Amino acid sequence: MTESNFSGLGLHEPLLRALRAEKYDRPTPIQERAIPKLLAGKDLLGIAQTGTGKTAAFGLPILQTLAADRRRPEPRTARALILAPTRELAIQIGEALRTYGRHLSLRQALVYGGVNQRRQVDAMRRGVDILIATPGRLLDLMNQRHVRLDGVRHFVLDEADRMLDMGFIHDVKKIVAALPTERQTLFFSATMPNAVSRLAGSILTDPVRVAVTPSATPVERIEQSVYFVPAAEKRALLAEILSDPALDRTIVFTRTKHRANRVADQLGKAGISAEAIHGNKSQGARQRALEGFRGGKVRVLVATDIAARGIDIDGVTHVINFELPNVAEDYVHRIGRTARAGADGAAISFCDPAEQAHLSGIEALTKRRLTVARGEPTRQAPANTNRKQARPTKPSRRRRSRPQKARRAA
Ligand code: AMP
Repeated sequence: MTESNFSGLGLHEPLLRALRAEKYDRPTPIQERAIPKLLAGKDLLGIAQTGTGKTAAFGLPILQTLAADRRRPEPRTARALILAPTRELAIQIGEALRTYGRHLSLRQALVYGGVNQRRQVDAMRRGVDILIATPGRLLDLMNQRHVRLDGVRHFVLDEADRMLDMGFIHDVKKIVAALPTERQTLFFSATMPNAVSRLAGSILTDPVRVAVTPSATPVERIEQSVYFVPAAEKRALLAEILSDPALDRTIVFTRTKHRANRVADQLGKAGISAEAIHGNKSQGARQRALEGFRGGKVRVLVATDIAARGIDIDGVTHVINFELPNVAEDYVHRIGRTARAGADGAAISFCDPAEQAHLSGIEALTKRRLTVARGEPTRQAPANTNRKQARPTKPSRRRRSRPQKARRAA
């Protein structure tokens, strides 16, 4: 198939020409699903990480819409604002949009911290079509009246989870408050913890939801099992499972940074070499932990969903979900860390009674039931789990990898 695929999404010739030059033969899943809706003016909630083609998914329709309406931006304003958590990402987005929009002659500016602001102020003086910014510096320039946001018609919040993880929530809220209410909003996040989901709910209007997982995840090839275990027994279970030397290079996932630290400390005390990586660690500390893990000095990496993003390490033998993610797509991202490059891998999940609804969501998404390694779901599952409503009193009919142990007062 050729670029007719992209034209089928409603994109016009100047963009198609640029895509041809980039040798983009066909749209990625997020592009296919998002572009027509965005051209129609809808808001979007995109659950996607880097590597899925999300930049083109939001960039192409915005470029086309801006080019179709040749209104000049007023001085110090932008018609589209793209907010990114880091300078590196902002630069990368800027480069991508320049590439896609090379036949459109739209004006673009980049605003980020760590450099002198003079050139950025100059770039904004006449106004731009597209402004790509990090939150801190943008607020600085707004406070100095070098930038106004009242002309923004398209707003993109990219990597929202990382934005919150880096402590930008208040900055983001201030920026959103300065935007006109009449606008199109696109919200991207690789993970959807509660705080991110609340933020999305507060700034989106009737959004289209598109969730994609990295295409290379061979979920079918990963052996997946679940231990039903009370929260208080998870620590002991983890140590027990890790006493098996077959778990050579293992990533343990937790939902919070705090828990990642605790688990890594506890493993260390139990004589298992472990390091935590999460957003509160410095770049240097994260790098050291990753190198130790890659080199085999660190056997267990304890990570939050966000920190684990972008980590590409071969030879991960096991992924252990110490806590289940509350968004099913995150489960697929997590377990995709193992079984890379044709190797086999295993994913082990701990599920306490409060997490059973998450497990149902995961099984619905992956369309398979996890093998029960131990325990069984509790009877008083939350009301929204079909599992228990369907058969309230019968014992679990799940496949079992070994005989079920007797449980206390189940
Ligand atoms: P992103 O997820 O936006 O960071 O994009 C990941 C990479 O995929 C970038 O290097 C893009 O240039 C590339 N890419 C995006 N869309 C396509 C496509 N439809 N075909 C081929 N490559 C693409």
